[in-house]
Amino acid sequence: MVEKSDDKNRFGNTAQTAIPDDAPLRDNPGHKLRTSNTIVDRQQLASDQAEQANIRTVQFQDQTGFVRLPETQEKSVEAAPNLFTGPSFRNPQERFRFDGHKMLYHLDRVADWQKGVKFPPIHIDMGLTKFCNTACIYCYAVVQNMTKGVMIQEDTLLKYIEDCGRLGVKSIGFIGDGEPTLNPAMYDAAVLAKKVGVDTSMATNGLLFNMDRAFDMLRDMSYIRINLSAGTPEGFKRVHQSASKNFAVLVEKIRTLVQIKKENKLPCTIGLQMVLVPECFDQVMAEAQLGAELGVDYFVIKQCADSEYKEIGIDYKEYEKIEKTLHEAEKLSTKDYVVQAKWNKINAAKDTPLYKDGIRKYDICYGTPFLAQISGNGKVYPCGPFYNKDRFLMGDIHEQSFYDIVMGDRYWDVHKDIARSVDVHKDCAIGCRQDYINKFLWDLKNPPEHVNFI
Ligand code: SF4
Repeated sequence: MVEKSDDKNRFGNTAQTAIPDDAPLRDNPGHKLRTSNTIVDRQQLASDQAEQANIRTVQFQDQTGFVRLPETQEKSVEAAPNLFTGPSFRNPQERFRFDGHKMLYHLDRVADWQKGVKFPPIHIDMGLTKFCNTACIYCYAVVQNMTKGVMIQEDTLLKYIEDCGRLGVKSIGFIGDGEPTLNPAMYDAAVLAKKVGVDTSMATNGLLFNMDRAFDMLRDMSYIRINLSAGTPEGFKRVHQSASKNFAVLVEKIRTLVQIKKENKLPCTIGLQMVLVPECFDQVMAEAQLGAELGVDYFVIKQCADSEYKEIGIDYKEYEKIEKTLHEAEKLSTKDYVVQAKWNKINAAKDTPLYKDGIRKYDICYGTPFLAQISGNGKVYPCGPFYNKDRFLMGDIHEQSFYDIVMGDRYWDVHKDIARSVDVHKDCAIGCRQDYINKFLWDLKNPPEHVNFI
């Protein structure tokens, strides 16, 4: 119910306003709007209204705004169809953009691609080892030829980091086939990367994280993501196939990381990630609550990526059974703690028949030059699902500098081969890392009609 009032504005035209019944008006308002009419002193009202649950105030420079929330405002807003809307007052959890891409912030590289000139990847996901100390039941690396003891050598890794700085690579995720903390050179690599202007992050099972280097990592890394798909010792054993007593070890490490970060006001984001498989459906709420209790920045729940041969055996229809629980978990989000499911991929089974079962929304993979992937043995590939396929091997950082690899012909020939020969609907792993980027680039290459009518 709104009260409407007609009035003349300062230009003599009729102005109409629609003011909600419960708008906090005062007899003698003092705040100036663009018309120079004094209407309402929001600054004053901000404190009066703070008590009211459904009216929140937002401060911008010297202005105060009101945001009126619906009676039953959900803390979590379901992913909107437009996945690329940034964080807003009502949708603060979008600040991480887990369920999308960030190509819009790198249009210089996109322009290079359109011009057909050589350019370095914006981001690289890389393994530092080819082995692991746990055996998680959802692990994609089991289809990538894991080999105990194989890792990138320290001198090679540090030289590679310097090359990334020289090339203008923006970020590296120590996120790959093997567990990164099993390579002791990881810590110095992250410190060096910060010095040469490359952002780093890591995804780890956390159990062997060297806490003596925790401060360095929290100072120099953009985020540390703990791969944890359980919220209880029993669930931990079941999903990660590690002794249930290790759950307590990990929880204490995370607690300490959060403490060091907060005490020293370090910028690194600390998050938990669950890879959703039916075996951990009963762990979703427990882990969401654990994350809140530990004070981490986020808990994200992602789909399990399966290989092109469906070797992990994920039936995406199973995800429909857990939907309600995922929404419940998202309601635990607060200003400082984001709980979010990657709906875009989790909902794949609900897609139109055309796009179910791994059929892509584009026909060509253009994304690999923007996001390279390096295996834990130092071999460079256009993407993780093609590890060990010699046809797509671009080089080995143990044998050649990364700078020379990126500036060489072989690297670009492989990218062209991918775009020319790969049938993304059949040859590719389901929901690969470059999927969101590919959609963006496909749109760019295949505009709709009448693009000038923006
Ligand atoms: S679409 Fe295929 S070729 Fe391209 S990155 Fe994904 S898995 Fe690799």
